[in-house]
Amino acid sequence: MKAMIPKFKPQIEHIYVDADVQETPLAKRILKALPKIPATIVTDRERFLKKAAGLPLSTGKKTLWLTFFKGAFLKPCPATGPDYLCCRYWVINAQTHCPLECTYCILQQYLTLPLITVYVNMGNVSAEIDPLIAAHPGRLLRMGTGELTDSLALDPVTHMNENLLRATSGKKMLLEIKTKTSFVKHLPRVPKGNALVSWSLNPDSFIRTEEHKSARLEDRLKAALEALKKGYRLGFHFDPLLMLPGWEKKYGELIRELTRSVPETEVLWISLGSLRFHPSLKRTVSERFPKSLITTAEFVKGLDGKMRYFRPARTEIYRKVYALLRERWKDVFIYFCMENKAVWQDVMGFSPEDNSHLDYLFHKNIARRFRDLDLPAPQRKNYTAGN
Ligand code: SF4
Repeated sequence: MKAMIPKFKPQIEHIYVDADVQETPLAKRILKALPKIPATIVTDRERFLKKAAGLPLSTGKKTLWLTFFKGAFLKPCPATGPDYLCCRYWVINAQTHCPLECTYCILQQYLTLPLITVYVNMGNVSAEIDPLIAAHPGRLLRMGTGELTDSLALDPVTHMNENLLRATSGKKMLLEIKTKTSFVKHLPRVPKGNALVSWSLNPDSFIRTEEHKSARLEDRLKAALEALKKGYRLGFHFDPLLMLPGWEKKYGELIRELTRSVPETEVLWISLGSLRFHPSLKRTVSERFPKSLITTAEFVKGLDGKMRYFRPARTEIYRKVYALLRERWKDVFIYFCMENKAVWQDVMGFSPEDNSHLDYLFHKNIARRFRDLDLPAPQRKNYTAGN
């Protein structure tokens, strides 16, 4: 690992700023950081939105819209139905869309507005965090911005994570900064504690064909080591696992590389999830990424309406990846993102009883392995149904 981590280059071609947010500190900072990008002040929001909704995604992903978010920033993860276990993560709605181009990105179908939208009033999220923690006594909440965007793809410009780190530092919860980039240089040093940077991982050849504009595997792992030096803990997501030609050998190499590069004792969790998408994504992929291979496999429609690999195929890839990870890392918390109990049972030999039990298992593992976090003793009774 000799080469330098590539520098951040914002690939933004136009900025739109709502007239009523242009004087906010975050809008000013973004405009100052991108002085050469043409900016337009939006005075007629309705007209602007009508026009923007018709933009092609490839244009939207090079266009920033700075606006206010009206509503709660913190929301429970929109789990996709009762048949799949959800870990009850809390989503921080700070930004939607991102400049990366993953062929399988569900946001291509999920979000109606194609623009990268930055909510410049997201500093207000701190007012929501304390009451949320207080409302869940004895529990360990996990939250992050990486569900509707990449948490670091624009952060060298927005520095939004700085604000979140301040709002969450020292609290009995975990803040996850989730990315497929290598942009960690600008992140502040933090006292070792409750902040982690996590990376979605795929074999490098899959990254090249299916995760355009993201960092190469080598750079993600180098960035992980840099984040570690700055005081962050780590997480990894094998999600989506892709059954592309040579997957078995390639995931084997990837896991060897990961476990050689990074100490298990710094890794809070690893998730496993297989490719899943709304049926309409197939058309989008063939139009936007004609060389992509992701939709060539056989899929079955799940009870949540999403396409997934057939269950025997999912079980096969999970078993291989899980066994390879467990061969090297015995202790790290490994969980499935949105899988059914039968798959848990087949692969790991047990299944959480329900979402609240899975949530509790995170707490139990993390409290045991990261004693410096001084977490309340995990108690099953604190993890009740709902959120
Ligand atoms: S990084 Fe995440 S949000 Fe960005 S394109 Fe890829 S899947 Fe979508």
